Amino acid sequence: MEQVGELGQHKLGKARVLVVGAGGLGSPALLYLAAAGVGTIGIIEFDVVELSNLQRQIIHTESTIGSSKVASAEAAMKNLNSSIGIEVFDTPIGRDNAREIVSQFDLVVDGSDNFATRYLLNDACFLEGKPYVWGSVLRFDGQVSVFGWAEGPCYRCVYPIPPEPGTVPNCADAGVFGAICGVIGSMQVSEALKIILGVGDVLSGRIAIFDALNASVEHVMVARDPGCSLCGDTPTITELVDYVALCSGNQPGERIDRSELVALLNARARGEAAFELIDIREEYELIHGLIPGSVNRPLSTFDVESFGIAAHSDPSITGEIILYCQAGVRSEYLLRELAARGFSQVRHYGGGYIDWVAGAG
Ligand SMILES: [Zn+2]
Repeated sequence: MEQVGELGQHKLGKARVLVVGAGGLGSPALLYLAAAGVGTIGIIEFDVVELSNLQRQIIHTESTIGSSKVASAEAAMKNLNSSIGIEVFDTPIGRDNAREIVSQFDLVVDGSDNFATRYLLNDACFLEGKPYVWGSVLRFDGQVSVFGWAEGPCYRCVYPIPPEPGTVPNCADAGVFGAICGVIGSMQVSEALKIILGVGDVLSGRIAIFDALNASVEHVMVARDPGCSLCGDTPTITELVDYVALCSGNQPGERIDRSELVALLNARARGEAAFELIDIREEYELIHGLIPGSVNRPLSTFDVESFGIAAHSDPSITGEIILYCQAGVRSEYLLRELAARGFSQVRHYGGGYIDWVAGAG
């Protein structure tokens, strides 16, 4: 191609791109980056391939069900292009490692599906001076933009406050039209390659909104906000913050953090506290382990109705219940379900297993 040429190939070969998430958006993004010959591609992901992913997470196959997504993605990319370098991070991305990892790459393609990770990546990218290629999908719609590029806005300029939990449905609840992931993930790669090659108009200061139902693309203009808490004239955010708390609408006292959980577990070991720590993830999610001292009761088979009755009538259940899942979304949901049935002795570990592992290092 004329715009790429030999110099362009050289630029691509030297480029380092980090993709966060090897799911719906990460799948096409990783494959196109590998096919384009981007020299080094980083993948950070801490999930396991399951059958229900395959409808949209096209980098994974039936034969990789049950294995880690990073391993599955790495194998597919090597198959496609053996000359590229791949750096895998089979770990959750969080406040403790984000800047260090982001700093090793030229730009970040966000394939995550939650607000806490988006704010985290936006901030980490801005603080490290790296472009943040954002994408998001829901049902039949998708959005793309590049934040932290040239004089353009950051994600916080456009979305200064995270939405209240529960007001924006997530992909798991609302579903995603599989092919939309291909459109949006490919658009993200297209932006990444334009930045690397120095061609075209980077999608900065604009959000492209794709509506699959009428095949339309609209552009909404967005500008840098001089009052932005991150990239504004007098920033108040100068280092990473607690993104789980930022994006959690919990009442005080409903949510505990890692240090509180550790203290409670220690107190229980000394016989000074009584509670049950329940891991509500599904069995296939336990390949990395679970928090010591917890019992697994998968949400899919959790009997909310009879649990409340048993807890009220069974004198052996005297303490409270602490729930956790992978990232705090399902545990919060179950907490609400139990509270709605009058069972108030329940809190949840909002960071979930991801936060537990991130804090262990
Ligand atoms: Zn900003």
